[in-house]
Amino acid sequence: MAEDEQVDKVTLRVLVDKEKNKVLLAEAGKDFVDALFSFLTFPLGTIARLVAEESNIEAVKFGSLSSLYQSVKDLDPQYLWSHTCKEMLLKPRNSMQPYCWKLKLNINTTEPLNCYFFCEDNSCKIENRTCVSLFRNQTCICGKLFKKEKLMKYSIREPGFVKETSTFIVSDDLYVMPNEVGTSLDLLQKLGVNNIDAIVIETLNISTKEVVDLLKLSLVSKTPLTNFIFTKQQLTNLDPRNRLEFWVGEEDEPSDDNNAEMVVKVFRRKSNEQILFVEAQEDFADFVFSFLTFPLGSVIHMFGGFSFLRCIDNLYRSMVDMSPDRCLKSEQLKFELTSPFIADQYGLKNQILRLPYHVRNFRLYKFVDPKSPISGGFSRGPLTFMVTDDLVVTPMSSISGVSYLERMKVPLNDVEERVIRIGRKEGLRILKASLTTTSTLTNGLSLSIIEQFLREKSS
Ligand SMILES: [Zn+2]
Repeated sequence: MAEDEQVDKVTLRVLVDKEKNKVLLAEAGKDFVDALFSFLTFPLGTIARLVAEESNIEAVKFGSLSSLYQSVKDLDPQYLWSHTCKEMLLKPRNSMQPYCWKLKLNINTTEPLNCYFFCEDNSCKIENRTCVSLFRNQTCICGKLFKKEKLMKYSIREPGFVKETSTFIVSDDLYVMPNEVGTSLDLLQKLGVNNIDAIVIETLNISTKEVVDLLKLSLVSKTPLTNFIFTKQQLTNLDPRNRLEFWVGEEDEPSDDNNAEMVVKVFRRKSNEQILFVEAQEDFADFVFSFLTFPLGSVIHMFGGFSFLRCIDNLYRSMVDMSPDRCLKSEQLKFELTSPFIADQYGLKNQILRLPYHVRNFRLYKFVDPKSPISGGFSRGPLTFMVTDDLVVTPMSSISGVSYLERMKVPLNDVEERVIRIGRKEGLRILKASLTTTSTLTNGLSLSIIEQFLREKSS
């Protein structure tokens, strides 16, 4: 057994400033760097699941996505279109899993898509094409299950993204660069390192468990490698200067040229304008659910490399800056990794955000969608949902609304109601806020409330 454990470990050499207890840079080969870049392929729901798991450090919260994930887990399946929908949200597939599955340090154990399934009824057809599914035990339109497995021609790819022989420099905040002496000297100068005697080299053995530690730290810290080596035991007492700042302020938004809109009722406190929850129909619940299926890389892509997840942004931008000839396996792979596709059949029909996805079309086969044929979403409508500030989604009733206000200790005369339209601009703000804060709706919608109020007043 001990030998097996050895095999799964990867060496990382780290330059450490012993006086300041700070990592200056790390020198890493393909296995470690591929593990870091694999983060970009993970759907947000996978990240929420992984950072809630045990590793050497305690569980961390991934913005509001952790509470959203938990609420889907707790949701009675009757509110979703099918049992497969729940499985899709809790174990979202990674469209790039064929590249990650055989990584030496693969932390996402979701099975790659390597087979499809036929209906128990051999003669089952739609539009003269045989019914097939991408999900084991999905219910067919005839009511039977998709059980009979058939392997696909392609499945596993050569693992990873960077060239076999390349080595890299990784900064404390996860910017990855080709390993050149000039690069590391530049970095050391930028860090203001003068006392070369204080620098020591440490060699670490990294296992998959430690990669989970790094994923956690990359979401909450500005200095994940330093925290990884020096302070991982006291993550809750993370020095505020090293803690990632929460979502504030406003970036340039793309103009809202998309007509698809959802209407929600916002309930907020008059005294401090905190949004308590929104009352919404299944379209908005589906929109929020869909976050769990978005690959991290395509989310960062939507924000042009600036999401406020500082270390993930660095990782993303270092991939954008990387030379495909010198460092990467191919230009195509760089393109895929900087804008990963949403997995097959995970896309919403009425998605207000634009995410790249495949459409599978076969002459002989008809892939049966596990989502609702009416709305194209995961939830079962018509139904009213309550979505709280930290994106907990539950079915709405008057009683659940009132008891929530009671639990939050909000006096009824401090609550006001607003009707707000959610288009692409609002959707992007909500998504961005959800990555770093537990006050997603307050941060994501406050500006939109003012904008829509002014627009109504002027018209
Ligand atoms: Zn069937």
